[in-house]
Amino acid sequence: MVNREEIDLRKVYIETKNTLSDFVEAPDFEAQQIVRQVFDVSYSEILTGVKRMACPEQIKRIRDIVTRRCEHYPLQYLLGEWDFFGRPFLVGEGVLIPRADTEVLVEEALRFLEPLSAPKVLDLCSGSGCIGLTVALERPDAQVTAVEKSPAAFCYLTQNNERLGAKAECLLGDALALEAVKGPFDLIVSNPPYLTGQDMAELQVEVRFEPAEALYGDEDGLYFYRELTKIYVQRLRPGGMLAYEIGEGQQNAVSELLAAASLKSICQIPDYNGIIRCITGKNCDFVEDYGLSAV
Ligand code: GLN
Repeated sequence: MVNREEIDLRKVYIETKNTLSDFVEAPDFEAQQIVRQVFDVSYSEILTGVKRMACPEQIKRIRDIVTRRCEHYPLQYLLGEWDFFGRPFLVGEGVLIPRADTEVLVEEALRFLEPLSAPKVLDLCSGSGCIGLTVALERPDAQVTAVEKSPAAFCYLTQNNERLGAKAECLLGDALALEAVKGPFDLIVSNPPYLTGQDMAELQVEVRFEPAEALYGDEDGLYFYRELTKIYVQRLRPGGMLAYEIGEGQQNAVSELLAAASLKSICQIPDYNGIIRCITGKNCDFVEDYGLSAV
């Protein structure tokens, strides 16, 4: 026999929030996310104090999540999924958690693709697939290939592809040693590992639970921009665009790498916090922007 008890979700929310308040920065937001997911209710239902028949597993799940969260284990891993561009992506140990900052790169990619029909898109170091699969879902006519080398992350990529119905082609392999994806592509996007040695030494406790191989871009953080740019500029079609997410302060170094690879119209795009988060460059013979087209 299952002992179900009637519980007041608002009370559970407040208790959860209070317990978390000494440990996390946004206890109310996190408590909402936890109660919403465990009881499958909306935020307004929580606030109006809806009563629910709860089974012991649900109560235990809340307690387990709160305990682990107080140890700074990432909320996203505890919930098992996280929203990106309005869609839930499955996440867990071994895959980088999608960040809201990355939406800037996706918006830029979608803007570039707007006038193109049936574009070919390549997403490198895909992780959960939040970039590549979002592009595929926003542009169902696009032919998207997503590449990920970590088997654990690849597992999330393929599950998200299936679950969201993105129909991307997912390849398990090292983007730096992959002969299979020759292109040419209209757009190549990547959010590669870009943290520096110093960043890694100063990681927030939560981020230490994420895979280091998805974070660390060598001592200067620029390893993947150097290596990927060399290989993939050759795989852009004329007029095609390379778009990277970058870390704070990397804009000049990465812009120079793109310019050294003969890309033109290099743009630096800030995220919602005003930090330059995305660099794009185009494979064309002339500079389109600023009215400087070559004669
Ligand atoms: N944005 C992540 C962080 O700051 C890093 C992601 C990456 O290296 N691509 O933790």
